[in-house]
Amino acid sequence: MEDKRTTWTKEEERELVRLWNDTNLNGAEIGKALAKNNKSVIAKVSRLKRRGVQLKLKRGKVKTNSEEAERKCLRCREYFLSESRFNKICKGCAKKNASVFTESMTGVLL
Ligand SMILES: [Zn+2]
Repeated sequence: MEDKRTTWTKEEERELVRLWNDTNLNGAEIGKALAKNNKSVIAKVSRLKRRGVQLKLKRGKVKTNSEEAERKCLRCREYFLSESRFNKICKGCAKKNASVFTESMTGVLL
């Protein structure tokens, strides 16, 4: 599922783990340091966690002045940058949801 832009080398992975655990940088800042986007950093972190890599819980710290924070998607269980605390579905799943919703709505109307 990974395309070239989000492929991580071992060195990048190591650096990600180091920055994640040893600094107060948030996902976006770490992404900038590693030339990755925030989404890719968060996806990588959740993959590393699944592989048993020890990574600090950082969700609470990742705060901007808005309600933006890393939240776990209720559908695919990946972390994503959520715009508010009411935003609990990632963009990819939201799109899927919308099409399912439209289909079922059409069903109701028929
Ligand atoms: Zn999702």
